[in-house]
Amino acid sequence: DVTVPAPLPVLGTDVAVPLADGTEIPYAALDYAASAPALRRVWDDVAAYAPYYGSVHRGAGHLSRLSTDLFEESRRTVAGFLGCREDDQVVFTRSTTDSLNLLATALPAGCEVFVFETEHHAALLPWGRTADVTVLDAPRTPVAAVAALEAALAARDETRHALVCVTGASNVTGELWPVPELAAAAHRHGARIVLDAAQLVPHLPVDVAALDVDWVAFSGHKLYAPFGAGVLAGRADWLRAAEPYLAGGGATRRVARDGDGGVTVDWNTDDSRHEAGSPNVIGAYAIASACRALTDAGFEHLAGREQVLLGRLTAALGELPRVRVLSLFGEGAHRVGVLSFVVDGYDSADFAAALSDRYGIGVRDGLFCAHPLVRLLTGADGGDGCGEGPLNAVRVSFGAGTPQEHVERFVRAVRELAA
Ligand code: PMP
Repeated sequence: DVTVPAPLPVLGTDVAVPLADGTEIPYAALDYAASAPALRRVWDDVAAYAPYYGSVHRGAGHLSRLSTDLFEESRRTVAGFLGCREDDQVVFTRSTTDSLNLLATALPAGCEVFVFETEHHAALLPWGRTADVTVLDAPRTPVAAVAALEAALAARDETRHALVCVTGASNVTGELWPVPELAAAAHRHGARIVLDAAQLVPHLPVDVAALDVDWVAFSGHKLYAPFGAGVLAGRADWLRAAEPYLAGGGATRRVARDGDGGVTVDWNTDDSRHEAGSPNVIGAYAIASACRALTDAGFEHLAGREQVLLGRLTAALGELPRVRVLSLFGEGAHRVGVLSFVVDGYDSADFAAALSDRYGIGVRDGLFCAHPLVRLLTGADGGDGCGEGPLNAVRVSFGAGTPQEHVERFVRAVRELAA
């Protein structure tokens, strides 16, 4: 076996985990899909920011001005990282969930939304509050996904606005969705498309203009930055025309008493329209720092080493008859370093607990906020997407900070536990 290049330094790799047998072992974080450990460089960048600590867009003082500059520069860094078009907006939010909920409030009146049942709940649920939603059945190949979307859009009334929401990489299977083809299908039928890139940006370069998606949403805490900040980037027109997501200071140009005893508001039309309140400047700065760090390390290099680790993992799991890897798209599907499986005769929660207690490995078990998809793939839905039963699975996920030893330890653990 060839040695995999060194990972990028991340937080948490020196934490000692007490094992059930009384010994200790360094923690192996294999749950990047939930939250990736922050890059050490991002952490150091945030510490280096400390001297500039000041409120953004609020103070006239020197530090406030510097802080505002860093915040706005972070916006430009993110726009560059995502390959945004010149007139796209970059809105700092709390998370992917927040970004998609923001977009849901910004839909034009009478809008329809098309979404596959396979989506993360953050991408499946926000739309029902503000639009008519069509939920499409899970496609079993990327080609079938495009065909299903095409058919659904062809049947729609094109005088209405429409939005397609789709994931770039599944948080359950890690499988890649055919984003450029889905975007082309959406645009052929006069619809817009938003990409849920929560599981894509940490693993592969995302170029908004090249993919031709209208918006992209992601979370900092999955992109090697700390919690609490996310991004919605893309077309300005719907965002500018919508009521501000939050009503408050910082999103207004002018507020005055009106003649009837109330107040009138003139809202900002730039990126700050939906950012009322004191913004999370440290979170935005950390995301920009992560963008720089990944760009400097080279996505091709990072994705290459991730695929080597993934290849070893899938080959090892493939040799274990009791292990079934969950896949929507089947043979030949491309995935990032995210993979879920069930072990015959093993409850997934017990399996995940054994990985932690006996091997110091952190994974996730459960339904991963994608209940319909996990039900479908574990065979617990009886074909109708509604069933209960033994649904949960184990998910292992990794990325730029994962050393070879963590994957090797995981493979040894699964071999021993599922022998
Ligand atoms: N979409 C996908 C594909 C995800 O994996 C997640 C997080 N698991 C989300 C959306 C929601 O992200 P957040 O919890 O950061 O809002």
